[in-house]
Amino acid sequence: MSRVHPEAFTGTPTDAVEILAWLGAVPTAPYHEDRIVDRVVGFAIGLGLEVSDDADGNVFVWYRGASSLGHAKRPLIVSAHMDHPALEVVSTEPLVGHLLGSIRPESFSTPVPVRFFTPDGSDDPRGVLEVAGCVLGAFQLEGVADARVGLHLAAAGTLVPGAFGVFDTGPVALDAETGLLYLTAADDLAGCAITLAWLARSAAAGVGLDLCGAFTRAEEVGLVGVAALVRRRGLPDDALVISIEASKSLPGAELGMGPVIRVGDAATTFHPEGDAVLRAARDRIRGRDAGYRVQRQLMSGGVCEATAYVVAGYTTGAVCVPLGNYHNQTPDGGIGAEYVHIDDVDMCATLLVEAGVVMSEGFKWPDDDRTSRRIADRPDVQLQRLRNSGVQITSSES
Ligand SMILES: [Zn+2]
Repeated sequence: MSRVHPEAFTGTPTDAVEILAWLGAVPTAPYHEDRIVDRVVGFAIGLGLEVSDDADGNVFVWYRGASSLGHAKRPLIVSAHMDHPALEVVSTEPLVGHLLGSIRPESFSTPVPVRFFTPDGSDDPRGVLEVAGCVLGAFQLEGVADARVGLHLAAAGTLVPGAFGVFDTGPVALDAETGLLYLTAADDLAGCAITLAWLARSAAAGVGLDLCGAFTRAEEVGLVGVAALVRRRGLPDDALVISIEASKSLPGAELGMGPVIRVGDAATTFHPEGDAVLRAARDRIRGRDAGYRVQRQLMSGGVCEATAYVVAGYTTGAVCVPLGNYHNQTPDGGIGAEYVHIDDVDMCATLLVEAGVVMSEGFKWPDDDRTSRRIADRPDVQLQRLRNSGVQITSSES
C-alpha cells in the first residue's frame, strides 16, 4: 500500500504529449476526478490563467485574449472530460463493485488487475491508500442509474464502500518506434492534455480571443457533468464550443494520420460553423506545413459531449484523436492500456490554436468559408452558359 502524492508539472507547458504523460500518472474515475482536477488547476495557476469551478465540480480555465483588451468577440471553448471508465466498491461483504462506464461484460471473463484507492482516514479529503486487487467476474445489473454491470472483486487490503478502482494496465509508456503512447485513460486525458497545451500555446502566442478549457466530470456514466452544465447555461450563449475526445479509431480516422475534425457522433451531427472554423484552421496550417495531417470523419463509435452542447443549442464542433483499445478493450477480448499516437495529440493542439486565430480575425460562416463560397460564387461564365443552354418549357396554348 502506498500514498498517492500530487506532483507539480515540470515539463514544457506547450507540449501536449508531456502533459498527457503527467496526467496519465494519476488515477481517475467517474465522480472521482479529484486528482485530475488538482493537476489541471495546478497547471493553469502555474501559467497565470484564470481558474473557476461550478457547483458540480466542473473546472474552467480562461485565457482572456480579447476582453482583457476591451474587445467583444465570441469566445472559443474546448470541452474535455476528466473521467474514464473505472469501478466503484458498493459492498465489502462480499466485495462487489459497479462498473462506471461502458465496457463489454465479457472483458472480465478472466481476472483483471485493479488498483483500488480507498480513503486513508486522514483529514485530507484527497488522502487515499492504494490497494492491489482484481475483478473476478461480471454480472448484469438492473435499475442502477450509474451502471449496467456489477463486478465481483478481490483485494489485498481493506476497502470501504465508495472506494474506486482503475484497471492496472501498467505505467504510462511511449513506444518510440511506433509513436504510440500507452496509458489506462487516454479517453479523455488526451483531450484534457491537448486543451491545456492549447491554452498554453495560445497564451504564449497572444491570440486575440477569449479561450476557455471546460473540464467536465462523470462523462462515462451518461454525460452527467456536461448535462448539469448545459442545464444551467453555464457557458456564454454566444460561445463556439468544441468537444475534444479520444475516440475509437475507424476507417478514415486512423492512428498516426492526424487529429480528426469530428462532424458527428453516434447520436447527432454538429454545427456547420464549428466544422467550418476547424476546416479553415486546417487549410491555413497546411498552407505553411505540407507535412501537417488532419482527418475529417463522423465518429460513430460513441456519443461525445458535443451532442449535449448541440442539443442545448450551443454552436458546436468537435475534434478527436483516434484511440486504440477503446475503453481498455483489447482485440483478444481482455483489458489493456488504451493508446494514442503522439503526432495526433500534438497536431490536435496545433489545430485548436489555429482555430482560435481564425476566430480572432472575425471568421463568419458561411461568408468566410471557402467551400460554402465556392457554391455561392460560381463564375458568371458558368451561370451565363447555364442560361444560354437551358431548354425553355413553353406552353403550346399561350
Ligand atoms: Zn469514453
